[in-house]
Amino acid sequence: MDTVDVDTRSKIMSLVRQKATGPELIVRKALHHRGFRYRLNVKSLPGSPDLVFPKYHAVIFVHGCFWHRHGCKATTTPSTRQEFWEAKFKDNVSRDKRNIEGLRNIGWRVMVVWECVLKRNKKTPDHIVGAVVKWLKSSEVFAEIG
Ligand SMILES: [Zn+2]
Repeated sequence: MDTVDVDTRSKIMSLVRQKATGPELIVRKALHHRGFRYRLNVKSLPGSPDLVFPKYHAVIFVHGCFWHRHGCKATTTPSTRQEFWEAKFKDNVSRDKRNIEGLRNIGWRVMVVWECVLKRNKKTPDHIVGAVVKWLKSSEVFAEIG
């Protein structure tokens, strides 16, 4: 049984979501080290993308698999208040879709990096960083890692 009500739980969870996770930091630092400059959590853009690379007209979302419904093992559904969670997840997924379309419409390229991939590769993130760099320098409008 959850000890807090649904609204409180939701607020706590959204705070948790806004914090950069360890694996994300590793990739960020590697990109910075390679000379890529970015802004964080740009609120003026649809969905406040986690990383924004103005020079490359590119944004990156690092999606938590649980919240954004990756479909991997981490995409679980809590066993209580299933209806609440299902509605919430459905909202999240359609919001993500809208945000990506919104960004595309104003000329941004979009990449989604799933958190499970970062977690799996946190000790050897080189090939992920490599894939991000390759995409940043490309003209591909959408890409996904994971
Ligand atoms: Zn995942």
